[in-house]
Amino acid sequence: MAKERTFSIIKPDAVAAGNAGHILQQLTDGGLRPVAMRLVQLTTAQAEGFYGVHRERPFFRDLVKFMTSGPVVVQVLEGENAIAKNRELMGATDSKKAAPGTIRQKYGTDIERNAVHGSDAPETAKFEIGFFFSGAELATLSVG
Ligand code: ATP
Ligand code: MG
Repeated sequence: MAKERTFSIIKPDAVAAGNAGHILQQLTDGGLRPVAMRLVQLTTAQAEGFYGVHRERPFFRDLVKFMTSGPVVVQVLEGENAIAKNRELMGATDSKKAAPGTIRQKYGTDIERNAVHGSDAPETAKFEIGFFFSGAELATLSVG
């Protein structure tokens, strides 16, 4: 499997709790290295656009409220099989059901406040990376 890129967010709950560093360490130990990273406070419009696929879901308004409640770390991670690897390190969506040792089990609270986001497919990774980072920010970056 060739080197791949995925998009990751350390969500407001994890940043507020001071767990961003621990999460970054766990991702890095798992073979994923950030090639672009920024601390941002999402606007309502940005959160709605980013999670547009969930617009009709009952939890959408709460999700947007949560994601705009404080600063988040947005980042592009690179590594072998990065999309699947990131999802594996994150664990199941519901922090209460996530496997022991996964990021969501360790740093999340429930199905909404679950510490991290990760792209779920190559097409979504491309959309999500482009949503936050320009080609100029990414073009020359690669971890050796
Ligand atoms: P993410 O897209 O954030 O990586 P995911 O792919 O595991 O998570 P999705 O189904 O895409 O899960 O849901 C997006 C986010 O919406 C979840 O991470 C969570 O914060 C929130 N969410 C999902 N399902 C629920 C729910 N039933 N109730 C409340 N919030 C939810
Ligand atoms: Mg998702």
